[in-house]
Amino acid sequence: MASEMAPGMPPNTIQVVTLEVKRICRICLSDKRLINVMKLGTRTIQYLTDIKKYYDVQICNDRKSTRLCKSCLRKVDVWRHALKQASASQTIIDFLDSTYQARLKRRMKKGQKKVQKKDQKKVQKNGQKKEHKKK
Ligand SMILES: [Zn+2]
Repeated sequence: MASEMAPGMPPNTIQVVTLEVKRICRICLSDKRLINVMKLGTRTIQYLTDIKKYYDVQICNDRKSTRLCKSCLRKVDVWRHALKQASASQTIIDFLDSTYQARLKRRMKKGQKKVQKKDQKKVQKNGQKKEHKKK
């Protein structure tokens, strides 16, 4: 650190770091390994949309930086993948749920039939008993 200090500066002096507004990551303010989102060709629109969606950061050609560091750009990719996976999982969850509901309905119908059969048997038995009593 001492080597970065200006010569003749007393120790423990706070140095002012100047960041070039156009050359910092829009997400984490890093000035290392930057990628200009506007220069990603066909992927630019997808990244602009996703960055707005995930971070609520609107990148456009104004005075502000249009760059993300590699780490933050990778996080956008990871997040996009996670969303796709979640969406695919919901399709499977919905299918399993519908299958479960259908099985549950079939069981309930079978249960009702069994109850109905038991009731019919009871009625028959009661009828027989009544007949016996009548005799
Ligand atoms: Zn970053």
